[in-house]
Amino acid sequence: MTVSLLGAADIRRLAAELDVTPTKKLGQNFVVDANTVRKIVQAADVRPSERVVEIGPGLGSLTLAILETGASVTAVEIDHRLAERLPQTALDRGVPEGALTVVDADAMRVTALPGEPTVLVANLPYNVSVPVLLHFLETFPYLERGVVMVQAEVAERLAAKPGSKIYGTPSVKAAWYGPWKLSGSVSRQVFWPVPNVDSLLVGFHRDPEPRGSEEERLRTFAIVDAAFNQRRKMLRQALSGIFGSSAAASAVLESAGVAPTARGEDLTVDDYHRIALAAPAA
Ligand code: SAM
Repeated sequence: MTVSLLGAADIRRLAAELDVTPTKKLGQNFVVDANTVRKIVQAADVRPSERVVEIGPGLGSLTLAILETGASVTAVEIDHRLAERLPQTALDRGVPEGALTVVDADAMRVTALPGEPTVLVANLPYNVSVPVLLHFLETFPYLERGVVMVQAEVAERLAAKPGSKIYGTPSVKAAWYGPWKLSGSVSRQVFWPVPNVDSLLVGFHRDPEPRGSEEERLRTFAIVDAAFNQRRKMLRQALSGIFGSSAAASAVLESAGVAPTARGEDLTVDDYHRIALAAPAA
């Protein structure tokens, strides 16, 4: 099977044909360089016969590079014009029938994915990159790993470790599901239009066993939100609202083995989970 990838001229021709002017609101920066989409697919280590989900396929640059490996793709696109055109683009470029399924929907609202894909590969729309990643990890337990391209600052936050300035709620919530690692940079010049921020690739592997129940996750995330809401404050203070008083917060923290004088940015996801387990049931 030979799939031919899209170049800059193809992207502009398709956009003109569909009368699409990329919008900021939908984070539409299309990749116009075949080497870049191949690099993303390589970073994700996509194998033939794997099932991949892509969020925001746009005109299909990355989609075709994933399909080129022999993997199948479920692609979720919010822009109807793009979603409608994509199957034809795939057929025109040599993709066998049945290898691509397009879901014309807002990725933030999808609750089932045809084919239960195990790998996520995407050039994410910047405005929803973290919420959409967390939504996918929460909703689709069959997703085992992934590589996404996001704004550099977001990628660094997702992969940040405790103690760093950029460590925050996205870092802890993402770590709930497994480890994250930066996996390469992408030049601004490969996008149309050229964005005014840098992009990085970041990858994750879901832990083989879930860390805790859904109820534990929700309790842990509420504690994380409270801790980072007042990140300069000591935890006994920052969590006083959740636990009723700073004395009650200190007692919970101590029984979880966490110093009440620590700050939210010093704690690992394990620490947060232990605090949630030590907390009296609501
Ligand atoms: N994958 C294409 C590429 O690399 O050229 C396009 C990437 S572009 C950064 C983001 C894409 O996500 C656009 O096609 C946009 O329409 C789509 N998008 C934006 N918000 C979305 C959402 N909530 N659900 C699904 N797709 C969305």
